[in-house]
Amino acid sequence: MKVYLRTYGCQMNERDSEHIAADFAGRGWEIADSPDDADAIIVNACSVREQAELKVVGLLGRLVSARLARPRGGLPAIGLIGCMAQNVGAKIVSKFPEIDFVAGSRKTAAVAGIAEEIVRRRLAGRGHPPLPEGMGRRTAKFSDAFVDVSDDPSDFLKIDKHLSAPPSALVSVMQGCQMNCSYCIVPKVRGAQRSRPMADILREIERLAERGTREVTLLGQVVNAYGREFPREGGISNFVRLLRAVNEIGGIERIRFTSPHPSYFSDELIDSYGSLEKLCEYVHLPLQWGSDAILKKMNRPYRAGRFLDIVSRLRKRVPNISVSTDIIVGFPGETEEDFELTRSAFREAGFDMAFIFRYSPRAGTPSAEMPDDVPEEEKRRRNAELLGELEKTSRAYNGSLVGSVQEVLVEGPARRGEGVMMGRTRTHRKALFKAPESLAGSLARVRVLSATTTALEAELA
Ligand code: SF4
Repeated sequence: MKVYLRTYGCQMNERDSEHIAADFAGRGWEIADSPDDADAIIVNACSVREQAELKVVGLLGRLVSARLARPRGGLPAIGLIGCMAQNVGAKIVSKFPEIDFVAGSRKTAAVAGIAEEIVRRRLAGRGHPPLPEGMGRRTAKFSDAFVDVSDDPSDFLKIDKHLSAPPSALVSVMQGCQMNCSYCIVPKVRGAQRSRPMADILREIERLAERGTREVTLLGQVVNAYGREFPREGGISNFVRLLRAVNEIGGIERIRFTSPHPSYFSDELIDSYGSLEKLCEYVHLPLQWGSDAILKKMNRPYRAGRFLDIVSRLRKRVPNISVSTDIIVGFPGETEEDFELTRSAFREAGFDMAFIFRYSPRAGTPSAEMPDDVPEEEKRRRNAELLGELEKTSRAYNGSLVGSVQEVLVEGPARRGEGVMMGRTRTHRKALFKAPESLAGSLARVRVLSATTTALEAELA
């Protein structure tokens, strides 16, 4: 049997989908490249932006029509899972009663089992619901779809399977978030923070290293708050203890993490840069906004000055560190003065990369109750101005690398083909260079020949 998985959203969703794919593979399923001949079609969808949800609704409409056009007996099971399933899954099923199942964001480990059972029952001509005991429970009924958005507190503990061991692998260390930023739907759909036991995470990384992985990215909504539920040992935060333990794993050459929160960026975490040799000289640290008044309205419990202090201390420890960020422009009540404060924080931090979003209210969040009073054209202008700032800093950063020799982890063939491989520097710059495919998965040294804002052209050194 074959399963087709389509994933939208952040790296947490990607990681969940990878676990699900590995679970299917362990049950003897093949992973299909297209939905056309799949026995199960699973859409893992993000709920962070309304626009993303609308795209998924469009996709589901197309999938359902394609399914109805298939000859009888060849019907694939269609499932919607993840944050969007958690948020609006029941509504979606009332719109598309042809959907077979909805599994919320705390049901990830159960998805393959549910889909398999539905397909088996359909093939045996028995219809699918109700599913047997132990397979989750139906928590809503619209049409005859199986809808379970209940909380399984042990779900996140089971997300540890990998389809393969890529050179660079994602590892979830926690789920959920308790920060309650006023614009964010994540705490509602993913629940409060829960950290995995450190021993489980280390075992998973050791297994990846044995199979060839060289770099791990530790994932969490507020990854540097990892283990705040556990007692601290020796006065050291559990996140820093985790980094130190991963640093000791043989075969792992590089460590990254995303996304940290400025409020949990402790002195000992700053000191880990430059002292843990595997910790890469790169950090993605969301600023969100450079005006304290707006940060307060966002319920982000730090000040812009604190953020800039972290960046400056990181740069002192590791002068070549690359820093990227997330920014939202056009938040309710944002004035031109607020924008200028952000522009100045943006310049001072010297971000090499940034994801800049125009604010749009998200139903179900506190900020959706605030007047969305910055006109759309003003949001676009502010967005474009920050992108202009970013272009200058990232061009200058990448340009400064021309002529230097950099270590890259060779991830595989580049999209452009023609014998060109893609690798990333420790500072997370993408480098493209001609090399044999046999180098995939190893560290190589390349000389940078030229640079654009997004990539480095290089040759093997
Ligand atoms: S820290 Fe804020 S923005 Fe990030 S997931 Fe938690 S609530 Fe959302």
